[in-house]
Amino acid sequence: MIGPRLPFAEHPCTRHACTACCWDTTLSLLEEDIVRLELAGHRDFTVADDRGYLRLRTVDGHCVFLSGGACSVYPIRPDGCRTYPLVYYEEEDQVDFDTWCPHWREFAVRPGVVLRVLRSIWLDDRQALWRRRRTRVAG
Ligand code: SF4
Ligand code: SF4
Repeated sequence: MIGPRLPFAEHPCTRHACTACCWDTTLSLLEEDIVRLELAGHRDFTVADDRGYLRLRTVDGHCVFLSGGACSVYPIRPDGCRTYPLVYYEEEDQVDFDTWCPHWREFAVRPGVVLRVLRSIWLDDRQALWRRRRTRVAG
């Protein structure tokens, strides 16, 4: 989830000028992602799904932050954008590469990123649960 304007020329996303995962994205956002983006002045970039998860909004099929073939919020992008293509597989209860990413073989598995994925999943679930409870109480 990185645009071609990145300074890291050796990064697989940059090397291939790929933005594939910024299209049709349903990435769920952590509260801290939302706060960070809002503090930078961004608004109206989320949509709520029926399970209580807040997800990145898309416009014309791509993430609202994809602009000119690059991520316009790269330094403050959501956590899930930082860790992709590593994802959590619930049934296997493990973190592994999403082979949908055309260049996943070029990414290295770094323990810090694996921990970050697990932390995001844990936070995401708790925050979605809290939102659902709050909605029920409010309703
Ligand atoms: S699909 Fe993979 S290579 Fe392409 S931008 Fe996303 S993470 Fe990078
Ligand atoms: S925030 Fe940036 S990296 Fe993440 S999906 Fe949107 S454009 Fe891609």
